[in-house]
Amino acid sequence: MIYINRSLNLKKIKAIGLDMDYTIVRYNSKAYESFTFQQIVKKLIEIKKYPAEIYDLHFDYDLVIQGLVIDTHRGNLLKLSRFGKVKQAYHGMRPIPFKDQQQIYKNIIDLNDEHIQSLDTAFSVSNGVLYALLIEKKEQGMALPNFHQLAIDVREMVDLAHRDGTLKLEVKENIEKYIVQDPEIPATLERLKKYGKKIFILTNSDFNYTKLLMDYAFNPFLKEHKTWSELFFWVITASQKPHFFSDRANFLKVDPDTALMSNHQGHLASGIYQGGNALKLQTDLGLQGDEILYLGDHIYGDVVSLKKTFNWRTGLVLEPLIEELEGINKSVELQNTIVKTMMEKEKLEDELNKLYEDEFEKGKKVEKKKLDKLFLKTEGLNNTISSTLKLFQSHFNPHWGEIMRAGQEESRFAGQVEKYACIYMAKISDLKEYSPRAYFRPAKRILPHERM
Ligand code: IMP
Ligand code: MG
Repeated sequence: MIYINRSLNLKKIKAIGLDMDYTIVRYNSKAYESFTFQQIVKKLIEIKKYPAEIYDLHFDYDLVIQGLVIDTHRGNLLKLSRFGKVKQAYHGMRPIPFKDQQQIYKNIIDLNDEHIQSLDTAFSVSNGVLYALLIEKKEQGMALPNFHQLAIDVREMVDLAHRDGTLKLEVKENIEKYIVQDPEIPATLERLKKYGKKIFILTNSDFNYTKLLMDYAFNPFLKEHKTWSELFFWVITASQKPHFFSDRANFLKVDPDTALMSNHQGHLASGIYQGGNALKLQTDLGLQGDEILYLGDHIYGDVVSLKKTFNWRTGLVLEPLIEELEGINKSVELQNTIVKTMMEKEKLEDELNKLYEDEFEKGKKVEKKKLDKLFLKTEGLNNTISSTLKLFQSHFNPHWGEIMRAGQEESRFAGQVEKYACIYMAKISDLKEYSPRAYFRPAKRILPHERM
């Protein structure tokens, strides 16, 4: 299923850019983040001289969901509403009680604050989990740096593990453990190409890693191309997104046989490149921005940063949506119960207000018996609501609930998706259900004053 925020006529789209990791190549995220976690721990001990006891920390994938932020000043993990209000908070492994949370976070969170770190992608889970566990250890008395420094160190070691080959070598040696082969994805892209769309890869991964993953995930399933590189007009590697959309770095030409690079001058012919920038790409495509669609999984690097500098159309791929949708579907009856019980509660509130109306406006003292009866009924309804809410939440992440909601409101993550992604989907192959000439139209959004 494709979810639509803004009208998008696929017929008018002439070129489709695709991110690689977590967009056209699926990962076994639990296995990958678990391995990453172990490597960050190892690096913290070896490079940052953290106590060797942290070797015993146990990775728990469920401690973090995509879209949370870290308050590095206070050592807290936060879930925000789309208005930036803190809706849930954890200090280490401990949920911060609602009252304390309201006391600590009176104001909305400024995402540009140097003490705020976003956990935006599937690659940030290990980062968030380890941070929470280290905070817990620090509170138990382990000699560790302050909350802010902890966040900086963990982030730096995650970055290093991605850059120094630690993670890439592990994937190379055990590719079937980390990478999911999904024949639907090559089939989706071959179909789009048949309709005349120029398709290209735009990835931050380097050429060797791109080749490793694409050989494995695409080559066995291609029907109309001998190898994956034939399918794509351009393959742009090590693209440095988000800078790709704002800076003007030069393109380097990559020789696919040797992986050697040379400076590239002039028009971008079909082929494999490294680096470059979006302006040159669009100019050489000879297209208007709104004739190009870019699909990626990173809400900031692939979607928000692109929309801020170019008017390309955008789509977000969010695989955790699969589980979230399952939870939503399985809990329909619970959701109905909550709505129904809330309506009953509102009726009781009206009755109560009516009694007080009589007292304030007509001088008729409220009967205690009547009051007690109403309070008792309300308490019953409150109990039903809170037990139903618990059951409802059991369909989602046990600590944080849904990615796209923060209580009744949309989450910060959902807010960004709505504002910057023209369409979104759980898997890129969801596009296969639609004609490559389809016209995606959003449903009319109901504003509060339009609700009957
Ligand atoms: P994408 O293809 O644009 O999705 O970029 C994913 C690439 O970025 C993969 O090669 C990852 O290993 C790499 N990556 C993810 N997180 C980090 C990081 O924090 N630092 C450096 N590289 C990263
Ligand atoms: Mg990606």
